[in-house]
Amino acid sequence: MSGQVMRAMAVDALGGVDRLALRELPRPEPAADEVLIRVATVGINRQDLITMVGRFPNPHLRLPHVPGIDPAGSVEDVGADVTRVAVGDRVVVKPPISCGVCELCLAGEDDACPDLRSVGVHRQGGLAEYVAVPERNVFRIPAGVTFGEATVFAHSFPVALTLLRRVGVTERDTLLVPGASGSVGSAIVQLASVIGARVVAAVGGRAHADIVGQLDPFAVIDYVETPTFSSLVRELVPGGVTVHVETSSDPALWTESLACLARRGRVAVIGAHAGPVVQLDLNWLFRQRASIVGCSGSNLAAFGDALELLGEGRLTVPIDQVVSLTEAPAAYRRLMGRDHHGKTIVDLALTT
Ligand SMILES: [Zn+2]
Repeated sequence: MSGQVMRAMAVDALGGVDRLALRELPRPEPAADEVLIRVATVGINRQDLITMVGRFPNPHLRLPHVPGIDPAGSVEDVGADVTRVAVGDRVVVKPPISCGVCELCLAGEDDACPDLRSVGVHRQGGLAEYVAVPERNVFRIPAGVTFGEATVFAHSFPVALTLLRRVGVTERDTLLVPGASGSVGSAIVQLASVIGARVVAAVGGRAHADIVGQLDPFAVIDYVETPTFSSLVRELVPGGVTVHVETSSDPALWTESLACLARRGRVAVIGAHAGPVVQLDLNWLFRQRASIVGCSGSNLAAFGDALELLGEGRLTVPIDQVVSLTEAPAAYRRLMGRDHHGKTIVDLALTT
């Protein structure tokens, strides 16, 4: 039915969270290959802050823009060509949408599709009562998993599994994961354990060490307490770790982490929050026979497989705070604070 409206949090101009306000927008109409979802939950993520500021060129963005990359909810309506899901199904959205026709997509490596567009970034997101998403990006939520858990899962676990597969992690590997208490970091710790690999989780501070300790990794080290931790890691893991997961690009952590790497070790780079340039000794690289692999996003296969593990109860998905739609701007501001940790989601059923 056309002409219906919905409540949405949207920015009317690029300029950050200050432009974010509750607005009445047209309810989306699903195209033939799309699913209309009545949103139950959506995450408060740093990606939204980047999108709302307009840090990167984004010619696909249309104002007013609705952020929200990882909605979960119930299928309200489906386009004429949709066959995999039906009205009433509980579903979660895989945020990046690949083209589906390029060589990488056809090879199942759609995380590397050169024409990726993301829900809530290049098109309208889920911080609203309704969102329309291509059927390919909609997955049924397993029984026993809540909407909120599915939302938090969608943001980090498929990315983590895609990374582990990209660097070929097996039960013979030992991983070093600095930032292991973060959302992607803790997902890597859990999925590596499911694969049977050992994880040395590295965190900054006692509180983070306690959080990640609950995931039962092989070892937890605190790089605030032990800034030169490579000798400690080499005591714990004679020969060194076979995989290092770089999440931050912090210069001191980078140097120490590389010093932990075994010969023929792999470095998986998934983030560079501290800045895009680091030092790399090429003599070390070739003598060590090391390799460095860039990882970003998730592919459809990893999303489905990780979701199955979630349904089997083998993953822990932490939710620290639940807020209403109107409380979303305040939640984004908290996320900008340096001491923020934990995961916040918006529950559309809350009315405060
Ligand atoms: Zn493609």
